[in-house]
Amino acid sequence: MRSILERASAAPYQLNHDEMMELLCLKDASELFEAAYQVKLRYIGKCVSLRGLIELGNYCAKDCLYCGIRKSNHEVQRYRLPADDIVRMAQWSFDHGYGSIVLQSGEIEAEENTVFIEQLLNRMRQLFGDRLGITLCLGEQTEAVYRRWHDAGAHRYLLRIETSSSKLYAQLHPTDHSFDRRKSCVHLLKRIGYQTGSGVMIGVPGQTIDDLARDIQFFREMDLDMIGMGPYLPHHQTPLGKSIEFSQADSEKQIQLALKMIAVTRLYLHDVNIASTTALQALADNGREQGLLAGANVIMPNVTDTEYRQHYQLYENKPCMNENSMQCRSCLQSRVVSIGEEILWGERGDSPHYQSK
Ligand code: SAH
Ligand code: SF4
Repeated sequence: MRSILERASAAPYQLNHDEMMELLCLKDASELFEAAYQVKLRYIGKCVSLRGLIELGNYCAKDCLYCGIRKSNHEVQRYRLPADDIVRMAQWSFDHGYGSIVLQSGEIEAEENTVFIEQLLNRMRQLFGDRLGITLCLGEQTEAVYRRWHDAGAHRYLLRIETSSSKLYAQLHPTDHSFDRRKSCVHLLKRIGYQTGSGVMIGVPGQTIDDLARDIQFFREMDLDMIGMGPYLPHHQTPLGKSIEFSQADSEKQIQLALKMIAVTRLYLHDVNIASTTALQALADNGREQGLLAGANVIMPNVTDTEYRQHYQLYENKPCMNENSMQCRSCLQSRVVSIGEEILWGERGDSPHYQSK
């Protein structure tokens, strides 16, 4: 194992499929995590970039079988943030040293929504110029819409493929959702010039280690700039999660698998941005710190007003639901310091991979 880790650390793209599977199956992954962390240190340094996450609204036209805000979940109280509030949250993020924000919501394909986002981006450009990085995470859209938002100032887009297996994708979505469209959207985003991020859910029912190894290969094929992936977490008001009960042991397995995915992805791709996602924190109080120590370098603290957070539950046990943005900021700062890392305040934090293009 040590020789595999040494070879993978020395240069990118050195792992074959079987070696990835072997690493993903490790019972004790401490050496894997350490090797991935060293690669992260070499490319990025002992530092973490932040993205303030604004949850714009929970209306969604899709019905992904795993997601708590899917359109058929009628128990969700739907909301849409007014533009002035979103701008205020962006301003707060900027004033408090978050060099980037992420605007995320359910998927809405409608001209009214396209214009709303466009106008929002225009306002932010007037306020912040290019001093605030803006990532969109608004699902599948047409090429024209992606272009309009890019022209209006968004420069990154996050669209998870969820799984690179078309077969598993079909099991996780209703028949009118299309894997091919999702994949072609990722291609479109790259072609338009966005810094493009994608990723998968880890440990979702029906997924194999073979699938996960293929996912990492897919990240390379797509030449992604950033990877956002996290553990699958059940939501009881969904078809997939309604009868899943995670025991303590299941949660531990789930977090370990997610950490191994982060580490193997870092060892394979070397210079991309990798998020240590909130879903990790849902499984363990120090989940995001563990993600950083396994090779991730980005954290997305929530900056949405507290009153809305409870209505944006993609999964249950979402952390920081009752905290406000200031509390999240202080908590995060001390957590990052506790593992000897430093926050890159006020920086956009583009990935070295993107910068070298
Ligand atoms: N609607 C947009 C963005 C919001 S959903 C989209 O789907 O792209 C953002 C991500 O949340 C999804 O890509 C999915 O990977 C993740 N997600 C949804 N439900 C989840 C669950 N139950 N557990 C873990 N992650 C989940
Ligand atoms: Fe909607 Fe995204 Fe949830 Fe799917 S994952 S139901 S597109 S919010």
